[in-house]
Amino acid sequence: MKYTIEITIAGCSTNCAHCYVDGGYAKPMSFEDYKRCVEKIKPLLDTLDNCAVTLGNEIFCNPDIFKILEYSKNQIGKHFSYESYYVPTTGIALLSKSNKKDIIDMLKSVGAKGFMLALHGNEANHNLIVDNRNGYKKIFETADFVLQENLDVLYNVIVSKKLIPDFDLTLKEIEAVGGKPRLTVPIFVPTKRMRKYQAVRADIKDCYMIAETSSQHGIDTASLLNHCKLHTEKALAEIIENGTFNLKEELISSPEWMFLNVTKNLNLYCGNAGAHTLYIGNLNNLKCDEIIDTVKKLPSNYDYTAYFSMNNLNKVGSLIKSFTPDEMVYSSYSDCICNILDKSKVKNILI
Ligand code: SF4
Repeated sequence: MKYTIEITIAGCSTNCAHCYVDGGYAKPMSFEDYKRCVEKIKPLLDTLDNCAVTLGNEIFCNPDIFKILEYSKNQIGKHFSYESYYVPTTGIALLSKSNKKDIIDMLKSVGAKGFMLALHGNEANHNLIVDNRNGYKKIFETADFVLQENLDVLYNVIVSKKLIPDFDLTLKEIEAVGGKPRLTVPIFVPTKRMRKYQAVRADIKDCYMIAETSSQHGIDTASLLNHCKLHTEKALAEIIENGTFNLKEELISSPEWMFLNVTKNLNLYCGNAGAHTLYIGNLNNLKCDEIIDTVKKLPSNYDYTAYFSMNNLNKVGSLIKSFTPDEMVYSSYSDCICNILDKSKVKNILI
């Protein structure tokens, strides 16, 4: 089994409409608490074969981020690396730091090759989605700073209805500053925030419009369009109806991957940040052996099984027939199914 333990060391400088980790302002974790957290989970990390520690939410909102990175490198370096993914940020808190160059150097020393900046549309729409009037401006200022530090910049361009107006201008802005764009279909999780976000989720027609503008800027959109055509309720309903889709096989083929989260007050949960399914205990009280025993007995919780019990799977075929399936686009069948269950008022397993 693969394990990811995310430690939430801070809230966020934005409060995005599509956020699945429950972003927005929150008091950061103190450096003392972070050290206590690492001391408690270190024996677990040493026991598990394949375990990575990640930090969330917006790590630069923690005033001690430099010390946290340095401590993590020294204490749990084997499990703590940015080698396989880009540092996600809004840039707002990073740019305000006097020691930002030292932070960048520390990130490079733990493998960071680049930063990932989410973009939602033109300035007005981006700022609306992230709920910050400087959000759009800061993305490009951050890109500029990061590129000067010889790191890559990946713009995670989020596919939604809000991306369409002035998309051409946003792509020109990317070209002017530098860095690469990547189109991403947002996930769906059954939370209040994401239910509201459904109002701007792109449908297949929106995707064609986004793809047309993208291809004018040399972005290869063939795989995006192929994905979008397949991952709608309508497409899913058709393959369930004609028997070419086996729900169980599709979902059990998900990776054997377990997500755990430590909150700012040192509560240890099973599940992603913002999508907890089991409270294991508080790290101030839990003994290291107890943590190891409990975690080793837990099943994986990747995709569908992070939100709904497998017992609900057999309901999907009949539920999908009870309404007219739409053509909104999802990042996976699992997300599409979660939405079908959620709008059919099937109870999820989140606490
Ligand atoms: S930047 Fe990320 S963590 Fe912060 S609110 Fe937005 S989606 Fe959530």
